Amino acid sequence: RATADVAPLEFAVTKNLAAKNPAQRAEILVDPGFGTSFTDHMVDICWSARGGWHRPRVQPYGPIALDPAAAVLHYGQEIFEGIKAYRHADGSIHTFRPEHNARRLQRSARRLALPELPVEYFLQSLRELVAVDGDWVPSGADQSLYLRPFMFAKEAFLGVRPAQKVAYYLIASPAGAYFTGGVKPVSIWLSEDYARAGRGGTGAAKTGGNYAASLLPQSEAYEKGCDQVVFLDADGNVEELGGMNVVFVTKDGTLVTPQSESILEGITRDSILQLAQDRGHRVERRAVPLPEWRDGVASGDIVEVFACGTAAVVTPIGVLKAAGFEDVQPTGTLALELRGHLTDIQYGRAEDTHGWLTRL
Ligand code: PMP
Repeated sequence: RATADVAPLEFAVTKNLAAKNPAQRAEILVDPGFGTSFTDHMVDICWSARGGWHRPRVQPYGPIALDPAAAVLHYGQEIFEGIKAYRHADGSIHTFRPEHNARRLQRSARRLALPELPVEYFLQSLRELVAVDGDWVPSGADQSLYLRPFMFAKEAFLGVRPAQKVAYYLIASPAGAYFTGGVKPVSIWLSEDYARAGRGGTGAAKTGGNYAASLLPQSEAYEKGCDQVVFLDADGNVEELGGMNVVFVTKDGTLVTPQSESILEGITRDSILQLAQDRGHRVERRAVPLPEWRDGVASGDIVEVFACGTAAVVTPIGVLKAAGFEDVQPTGTLALELRGHLTDIQYGRAEDTHGWLTRL
C-alpha cells in the first residue's frame, strides 16, 4: 500500500461562506485555550482499495457524515498526528519537521492496516489548509495553530478486516500558551495496574485506542492528586507518559531516555536530544528500569527529569508518586534551557541550524 514518488494532488477548494469574520476570529485568538475552537476549513482526501488516493478537497469545517456501520466506530481502525504551525515576527508561517510526522503517520498506518499517505500529500494538506486559514495562526507569545491530521476506516462493513474505504482529514485548532505564568513542574502518577501498550501491540502507533486505554489510569492520577501518568512496560521499564516522552539527566550531563518497541517516538524528544548533543551532552536511548530512576534520584545521580511533546514542549517532572511512595524530583536548568532553544527555533528567534522549519 506504500507509494514512492507521487505527483502533486489538485485540491478542489470550497470556501466556507459562514467563515468567522476578523473580529470573531480575533476574539477567539486572544485566549484560544487548547482544542476547543477550530478554523473555518478542513482538508480531506479519500482512499479506496480500488482507486487509491483521490478526491482531495478543502472544504468548510463541519460534521462528517458516517454510515453507522463504518468500521472505525466498531473496531477503532484510526490513526492521527499532532503538529503545530508557528507565526514568526515577520508574519510568515512555519511548521516543524513535518516530514517526521508524515513518516510516523505512515508507520502508524502500517500497524493499523491503513493505507500509507505519501509524505508529499501530507505536506500538501498542511499547505492547502494554511493557504485558506492562515489568518488563524495566532501571533501571541507561545501561541500556535495546532494541526490535527487523522485517518480512519469509513467502509460500512461489520466484518473484521482492513477497510477498503478510508478517509484522511486535516483540521486545525488555534492553541494558546500551554503554561500561562511560566512553565510549572508536573506531578506524575506511576500506573502499576494499567499498561498503555504491550509487546507486539500498538504502543508505537499514534492510534486512538492507546489514548482510550490511558483515560482510566489518567483519572486515577487525578484522584491521587497528580497531573499525568507514567506507564511501565511488562518488564518494569519506564515507557512514557500518556502523551509525552520522558528524559532523565544524570550528573555527568548525560541524557537518558527509554527505548522500546512500544513507545511513541516523539519528534520533540528527538529534537531536544539533538540540541543537547550539539551542546556536547551524551545521549543514551535504552531501557530504563524503574529502580534506576528511583535509586538515581535518591543517590543524586539523576539531577533532572522532564517530559516532552508537541503540546507542552518540555515540562519538568516535579514529583513521582505511586501507591507506596512519593519521590520529589531534583530540579535543574537544562530542561528549560533546551525548551527555550527549541521554541526560539520554532518561532524564528534562533538560527535553524538543522533545517527543521518548513515554510507553509
Ligand atoms: N508519546 C505519546 C504517547 C504521545 O501522544 C506524544 C504526542 N504526540 C508524544 C509521546 C510526543 O510526541 P511529539 O513530540 O512528536 O509530539
